[in-house]
Amino acid sequence: MKNQKQAIVIYSGGQDSTTCLFWAKKRYEEVIAVSFDYGQRHKAELACAADIAKEYGVEHQILDMSLLNQLAPNSLTREDIQVDQDAPEQGPPNSFVDGRNMVFLTFAAIFAKQRGITDLITGVSQSDFSGYPDCRDIFIKSLNTTLNLAMDYEFDIITPLMWIDKEETWALADELGVLDVIRDRTLTCYNGIPGDGCGECPACKLRRRGYERYIQHKCS
Ligand code: ZN
Repeated sequence: MKNQKQAIVIYSGGQDSTTCLFWAKKRYEEVIAVSFDYGQRHKAELACAADIAKEYGVEHQILDMSLLNQLAPNSLTREDIQVDQDAPEQGPPNSFVDGRNMVFLTFAAIFAKQRGITDLITGVSQSDFSGYPDCRDIFIKSLNTTLNLAMDYEFDIITPLMWIDKEETWALADELGVLDVIRDRTLTCYNGIPGDGCGECPACKLRRRGYERYIQHKCS
């Protein structure tokens, strides 16, 4: 039987997935946060995730995905690869990890089915997809179909941020009453600095631009 009282949130401890976590908490009786340890350079990301989950009484599972780093070393896992500062002319930036969202969602789905849960929530966004192919709506729909066929089960991959940009994601956080939690305690920065971050990397720039626009519009 379909259990719509519980949901799984794919949880990195960043702005987007934390916003999704609070979005889910308003809609479901129980939310389980699932994070992945894939050898990311900055363990602070997982620490932020664990702290927030604990404080807000959310069950938190960290799954070992070190295989991903073994297969596809990249600038988010290797100290000796610099993160691209600007988008390359062709293809995704080198912060893109081949297969990451597919692998994460697939493992989260396997976990969900063991608990009788169908709803999987992820913070991917086509509006701000930064050239990552696995943040696109068509990919999510395709994977949803594949997972259903693979496990003969009715998964529902839910993407609250798919069609909104960073400014609107800040607005959503404010609406959920967690603007400060998201601003101060999440980690989006490629250099591993929580809150406002380093201010220089592409992730910080995108996050800050959205925040400034939101505050500006809110105050005007
Ligand atoms: Zn940064």
